[in-house]
This record gives sequence, structure tokens and C-alpha cells, in this order.
Amino acid sequence: MKRTRFSTLVMTGLAALALAGCGSIVPSSSDRGSPSAGASRAPYSTPGTYIQRPPRGLSSAQQNVVTRPQDAACLNALGAAGADFNPLPDTYAAPGCHTLGSVQLSSIAGDASSFGISNIGPVRCEVATAFGQWTRFGVDRAARQILGSPLARIETMGSYACRNVAGSNRRSAHARAEAIDVSAFILEDGRRISLIDDWNGGSRAEREFLRTVHRSACKRFGTVLGPEYNRAHADHFHLESAGEGPGTGFCR
Ligand SMILES: [Zn+2]
Repeated sequence: MKRTRFSTLVMTGLAALALAGCGSIVPSSSDRGSPSAGASRAPYSTPGTYIQRPPRGLSSAQQNVVTRPQDAACLNALGAAGADFNPLPDTYAAPGCHTLGSVQLSSIAGDASSFGISNIGPVRCEVATAFGQWTRFGVDRAARQILGSPLARIETMGSYACRNVAGSNRRSAHARAEAIDVSAFILEDGRRISLIDDWNGGSRAEREFLRTVHRSACKRFGTVLGPEYNRAHADHFHLESAGEGPGTGFCR
């Protein structure tokens, strides 16, 4: 089932706002697998690398949607996994701040339903793929097993933001759309399990659920920071970069 929409290529909700407090990224991992800050790559424009012609009638900015082969493979896999999304044009906002091969996620497919995502902006395709797998195999299944209700929606505090790691001169992974901040989970039965209220203050089952989804995030993302890391992460999980396998990332 492929529901990917290529028609609406409008960059919406950059979510460049309201990411205060998040960004205490671990030095050794924050730049893994990504162009370093200040080394902005030129936009790809080599003939032959296009696999998708921009639809007619788009603005010049929208026509910058260029799909590199490696990005196309990721977009195809994301669509095959049942995610509903729009590919976004590459953007270069400032040195070290760019969105390359990113998507706007609308929903993620689960075993028996699909899940909404609140307040998310551009996310690099590989990170969106890890997020989709975590949502389906980590979060939804844990919700059903531990809390007795399927997941309905994940609330985030955004993804892309052109800024540095707090207290440093290094760019955050958010500046490359390679991180998502997750703040709460809405269940089908109406319950809302949030990091700020329920990591310590929730019921025994709710606390177990949050720790379980934190552990499962560590299997799928390169860097995961949560309430146990520092106070800046008391209200969200910072999920950064697609992981390179269990045990290879930073999980706190
Ligand atoms: Zn973050």
C-alpha cells in the first residue's frame, strides 16, 4: 500500500520554534554520519541523479525537490512501510543548518491501524524510517501489552531547528533535521502518557511503558536522551540519527 503523496510539496510547519531546552547532545555522537557544521554541501544538480521530475506549476523553491538515488531508496522504503508523508525540498538556511532528503510525516502505519504525529517538521528520511519502526514495533506494541490499549498518536516538540547544542558552538542534530523530540503518547482509549507527568509520576504500568519505549528507541536511534540524562530532557525523549545497531549508540 503506497500512500505517499508527491503532489503537495509545500514546506509546512518548519517547527523551527519551540525547541528550547533540548540539545544537550553527546559530543562523540552528535555529528555521526552527517556533514559537519559549516561544511554545507552544494545542492545536487547533476543531470542523471534526478529520478523524479518536479511536477509542473510549482514555485522555483518547490522545484528544488531533487531526489538523489540514496534518498529515493529511503523514500521508497518509507512508503512501503506504510508511512504517509511528503518529500521536502532540500533547504540551506545557514552554515550547518540544512534539510537534505527530508520528509514531512503525516502518519505511520501500525499492525492494525495508523498513528498520527503532532507538531513534527522536516525529518531526514533515514530518521523518519527509524521513527516509524520504533512507533510500530516499540511504542504501539508496548502500549497494547503494558497498558492494554493501542497507540493513537505521538506528540512531539518538533524536529528541525537551526540552532546549536545548548551551551556550545556546535550545531545540534536538529539543525540537520536528524532529531525528533517526543513528549507524549496518546492511546486509543484516550489516555495521554507524557514524559513530564508520567516518567516518575505515572502509574506503575505507565512508568514501565515509558522505560520500555525508551529502551526500544535505543535499539533504533544513534543517540537517545531522556529524563535520566539531564533536566533539559525531563519532558521529552531526544531521538537522534538512525542507529547503527544495538549497543553502538548513546542511550541515557
Ligand atoms: Zn532534541
